[in-house]
Amino acid sequence: MTEHAVVIVGGGPAGMMLAAELALAKVDVAIVERRAGQDIDGSRSGGLLARTIEVLDQRGVADRFVSEGQVVHVWGDFAGVQMGIGDFPTRHNYVLALWQNHIERILGGWVDELPVTIYREREATGVTQGDTCVEVALSDGRSLRAEYLVGCDGGRSLVRKAAAIEFPGWDASTSFLIAEVEMDGEPEVGMQRDDKGVHAIGPIEGERRFRVVVREEQLGRNGEPTLSDLSEQLVGARGTDYGLRRATWISRFTDMARQAASYRKGRVLLAGDAAHVHSPMGGQGLGTGVQDAVNLGWKLAQVVKQTSPESLLDTYHAERHPVGARVLQLVMALNALSPAGARTEALRETLSEAVSLDGPRRLLAGRLSGLDIRYDLGDGHPLRGRRMPDLDLVTADGPLRVFTLLHEARPVLLNLGEPGGLESGPWADRVPLVDAGYEGEWELPVLGAVSAPAAVLVRPDGHVAWVGEGTGAGLAEALTTWFGPPRAA
Ligand SMILES: Cc1cc2nc3c(=O)[nH]c(=O)nc-3n(C[C@H](O)[C@H](O)[C@H](O)COP(=O)(O)OP(=O)(O)OC[C@H]3O[C@@H](n4cnc5c(N)ncnc54)[C@H](O)[C@@H]3O)c2cc1C
Repeated sequence: MTEHAVVIVGGGPAGMMLAAELALAKVDVAIVERRAGQDIDGSRSGGLLARTIEVLDQRGVADRFVSEGQVVHVWGDFAGVQMGIGDFPTRHNYVLALWQNHIERILGGWVDELPVTIYREREATGVTQGDTCVEVALSDGRSLRAEYLVGCDGGRSLVRKAAAIEFPGWDASTSFLIAEVEMDGEPEVGMQRDDKGVHAIGPIEGERRFRVVVREEQLGRNGEPTLSDLSEQLVGARGTDYGLRRATWISRFTDMARQAASYRKGRVLLAGDAAHVHSPMGGQGLGTGVQDAVNLGWKLAQVVKQTSPESLLDTYHAERHPVGARVLQLVMALNALSPAGARTEALRETLSEAVSLDGPRRLLAGRLSGLDIRYDLGDGHPLRGRRMPDLDLVTADGPLRVFTLLHEARPVLLNLGEPGGLESGPWADRVPLVDAGYEGEWELPVLGAVSAPAAVLVRPDGHVAWVGEGTGAGLAEALTTWFGPPRAA
């Protein structure tokens, strides 16, 4: 039986990102993927939000995406108020409009440069967990054995079901058809909110095709939606189907919201849509999965390499489950504000007055962009548990961006005080120490200015694990917690 340290089921955005993280950490990783390549049917995610672009920047690949997408400074709305983060202290204070097929192609291209085995056109059909390994049966009759298996296999995750991980949440209350179509007539493009709900038609750039989203009058229709279903809903919503002729893709999505009760069960872990599903409103899905992968990858690598105990993996659930729960809450709030009708209108208008104020706008924009994420790593300096800003540092070797120090998915101990004033001691081989200076202000999204630390311990995912305020107090404990106990001499 073929063995790998880690097997990932599903080579979508979450699976690809996780494979890259593990490969960068020099872990033997394989992906099992049903599709022959990275092509997807139709358009799904329409872009990347700020924190997702930042995590790609931490690995030095953000430019590959930014150069193919379109920078949008004001995007979406909350209760009718346009959201923008132009004033946030990040290099990526925007949304990058880029369809998911391009995101996946670029991610796939990066993964192809790394030592990752991909078993394509094969499905995982079963999972058996033992004390020391986990086996996954494939549709070609073969099996793979691994120390850990990660289900990145989407909302209908076989891995989640096989591991008997519960998926509690809320059933759908409304459903939509989404399609890419050809029409003989000239449809009225744009978003419309009427007493039937929200519908949108937009041109597909450079083509005579349109992207259509229309609410279904009836909930609970099963089976693949057809061209006549789409026509019926369009006529119901707009009085005409605009000479609907052909659809190259029709799909259905709902406002169902569910989250895995546990992101880990023994040697099985979940990431991406396998761990959380919700409606596409707010554009949260893809980025949350990519960020799950960035939280999990280095931890899994350290456990596989036996530098950290397996209890480190429990911090994955402890950190990412609350983030997923907040995403579900945000998306459900957006859904609740979407239906037409006097009561929702009253709620929207009341809320929009509050959200127009700067404080609430920053709060919500921080949440939508993912820049407000804080893992509960204890009290103290506000940086602790939050993302490390991508500062322009000065070092003995010249200028250096913080994110450059994270390109290899390794941690860094940044001494911003007296050069030579801090040591990583027995962790020196695992945690590089960099002496650097920084002259500017320390500013965090949403929070604003914070006091300048004398040193920071930054985890490979870019979150600050320890803040030094002039002494090394607490550093050894933080190094042990996150990067394993010191090795015996
Ligand atoms: C209409 C629509 C609009 C959306 N808009 C947005 C948006 O604007 N912004 C946003 O961030 N997100 C959006 N999303 C959500 C986004 O598409 C998903 O969150 C994202 O694709 C999840 O990535 P993933 O890797 O977790 O799962 P998936 O993309 O579902 O990937 C799972 C992979 O696993 C493979 N697989 C599944 N089962 C098996 C098996 N048994 N064996 C082998 N392979 C298997 C599949 O082929 C697939 O490649 C939208 C989704 C939809 C449907």
